[in-house]
Amino acid sequence: MGVADSDVQTRIGHETPLDAARLWTDVLDYVRPRVSREGFETWLTPTRGCSLSSSVLEVEVPNSFFADWLSQHYSAEVRAALSSVCQREMSVSFRPRESMDTGVLIKRAPARRPVAKQNGYRLQPHLSFENFVVGESNRLAVAAARSVAERPGASYNPLFIYGGVGLGKTHLVQAIGNLALASKPGLKVYYTAADDLFVELIQAIEKNTRIEFKNKYRRLDLLLLDDIHYLVGKERLQEEVFYIFNSLHDAGSQVVFTSDRPPQDIPALEGRLASRLGSGLVVDIQAPELETRIAILKQKAAMDHAELPDDVAYFVAARVRTSVRALEGSWIRLLALASLDDRPISVALAQEALKDLVREEEPADHNRIIKVCADHFGVTVKDVTSGGRTKQLALARQVAMYVLRATLSLSLKEIGGLFGDKDHTTVMHAIKRVGNLKASDPAFAARLEKLSQGISRGEPR
Ligand code: ADP
Ligand code: MG
Repeated sequence: MGVADSDVQTRIGHETPLDAARLWTDVLDYVRPRVSREGFETWLTPTRGCSLSSSVLEVEVPNSFFADWLSQHYSAEVRAALSSVCQREMSVSFRPRESMDTGVLIKRAPARRPVAKQNGYRLQPHLSFENFVVGESNRLAVAAARSVAERPGASYNPLFIYGGVGLGKTHLVQAIGNLALASKPGLKVYYTAADDLFVELIQAIEKNTRIEFKNKYRRLDLLLLDDIHYLVGKERLQEEVFYIFNSLHDAGSQVVFTSDRPPQDIPALEGRLASRLGSGLVVDIQAPELETRIAILKQKAAMDHAELPDDVAYFVAARVRTSVRALEGSWIRLLALASLDDRPISVALAQEALKDLVREEEPADHNRIIKVCADHFGVTVKDVTSGGRTKQLALARQVAMYVLRATLSLSLKEIGGLFGDKDHTTVMHAIKRVGNLKASDPAFAARLEKLSQGISRGEPR
């Protein structure tokens, strides 16, 4: 019988392909939680384990562009997975599916993104100032960061950089470390994130190596401590961080902090660092404006040796506003799709690449939001967007700014532009005021909630 025959063949004659597929699935299961979801779906989902020898697992990938990308970006994770799921030494070879291997992009040099390798200072060389695009949204932070990198301990100490997720904080502190080290090779630099520090501290407590732990940090010339909002609610970690910070500060060593919120929103920190933050500088990074987003996309494309036409850059940048990380994700998605389908990078392709990633934002969205807010306060759009100064108008305008920020994640500058070119500090003040009102006045909070629901239901038009 045909069915029985093939069944036997599968088990006996074709045991190898079956094992290859299963092994690769195990590897993928191991890798999945360790990489970004988007990266996994883009690069690893279209792959398949296809043959297995005693020491090599061959994996079929859509084309050679994928093979290059996977080797450059995922080999560390794949290696770790293999050593976890295999009993013996194994390596992986990515084999492009021949029939598809004719793409335009693919014939170009493979992407030369530096591999995210860390050195003893836990710095990644490609996170440099050269690769960081400067715009209005981050100009001050970049200037401060450069100054600290050029004269650690002598300009702003500590430097405190805050901003939303994916806006470049880690990149910027890594750039400080890289530049400082390049100018003074002997400098004792160390980068760590607060959650890693926590793990290290726990281990030091378990292994009774607290002294070594303290000494390691006390000896530094430059400590880059990322994501210190993680300290909230962790008393023990706070103690250690203050100890480390104080001894470094007393010794004139430089400390740089990053956080997703300003120091005053981390109460434990504010209280204890307050006097010393005074001798330093607190700077924020805002979401990049359209021009900066376009420049960032262009820079990412250049790093990948790919051509990005202006209209496509504009199309993507106009739609992906929330973070640089999201922008980068969209670009990678676009690049993968171009290579997969062997199509040039065009607006049509971008439309396809972005359709699951971002909600299409109608250009008219912000107008509608302003209209809903104006209606809610019984004033006209014109009153709200021009300079009228009555109390009611001011509040309507501030609420509109708040809602625009919350729903469309427009940059402060973009919001200011919608209200007769208001300064970004005015917009920031408005958003803060509405946030405070919302926190202190339940009736106002309820009104705001109702307003937001009206906006998400798309009414009134
Ligand atoms: P954060 O630490 O603020 O969450 P990251 O520093 O990790 O954000 O940045 C997210 C990604 O965006 C990184 O790949 C980073 O290199 C990139 N990025 C952020 N800002 C810029 C910029 N101004 N120019 C170029 N790349 C940027
Ligand atoms: Mg970060």
